Amino acid sequence: MIQFDHVNKRYPNGYQALKDVNLSIEQGEFVAIIGLSGAGKSTLLRCINRMHHITDGSLKVNGTEIKQLKGKEIRKLRRNIGMIFQSFNLVTRISVMKNVLVAFVPEISWWRKLLGIFREEEKRKALMALDRVAILDKAFVRVDQLSGGQQQRVALARTLAQNPSIILADEPVASLDPITAHQVMDDFKRINEETNMTILINIHHVDLALAYASRVIGIRGGEVVFDGTASEVNDEVLQYIYNGNVEGGGIEHNAKQ
Ligand code: ADP
Repeated sequence: MIQFDHVNKRYPNGYQALKDVNLSIEQGEFVAIIGLSGAGKSTLLRCINRMHHITDGSLKVNGTEIKQLKGKEIRKLRRNIGMIFQSFNLVTRISVMKNVLVAFVPEISWWRKLLGIFREEEKRKALMALDRVAILDKAFVRVDQLSGGQQQRVALARTLAQNPSIILADEPVASLDPITAHQVMDDFKRINEETNMTILINIHHVDLALAYASRVIGIRGGEVVFDGTASEVNDEVLQYIYNGNVEGGGIEHNAKQ
């Protein structure tokens, strides 16, 4: 469970990117976070794995207040939270398999790291993760020979190999063509259903958010202004999230406190 209570995030330059955020996300939810560029979507995600530090309020992940965590505890938190980026964050000059094996690097001893020796069990897990996203046949191909969609699948496999309970995805399909974007979203959906991993996706394609996510959170100017099911999102809601020019609207009350 991820629990935000009165969370504020102010960057060192004084800019307040999150304003009194209150959210409760249960294990296994598939959540899309939508909003204009600069609304605070990425900040919200990055507070969950402590890439960013909240300024005040409380943020608990599986019951642990993450504000107080230090060094080793932060690494432990991050092992349980996979992160997927728009830019895939892969080492393109090495094989798909080696990229997925990177998931085990924080856990292996310094000498195995130096020699690049991975256990059979780790290799098996890496291959299983590649199979899950249907690119097992590419295991020994260099990443730079793959399409964008295939590269995002490698990134997803690397995250799955880590066996996290939460996956945070920051605009994972933004650089993909529409057909490939649907395929990658299908992967996220299937993994969510098969593994009960919580998935939070920042996405600016509203149609994709509504097609795949069961819950949609709308952010505007650092505030949660909508929190509901995909079927509750109508034109009025979208106008409110994206332009803020709908008078009254009775939408704000839907943001769960
Ligand atoms: P989104 O993901 O919705 O595009 P972000 O979370 O990236 O939005 O950014 C929210 C706001 O915080 C933006 O106005 C952005 O300029 C600002 N911001 C992001 N990172 C920093 C930073 N390191 N320092 C100061 N302001 C930042």
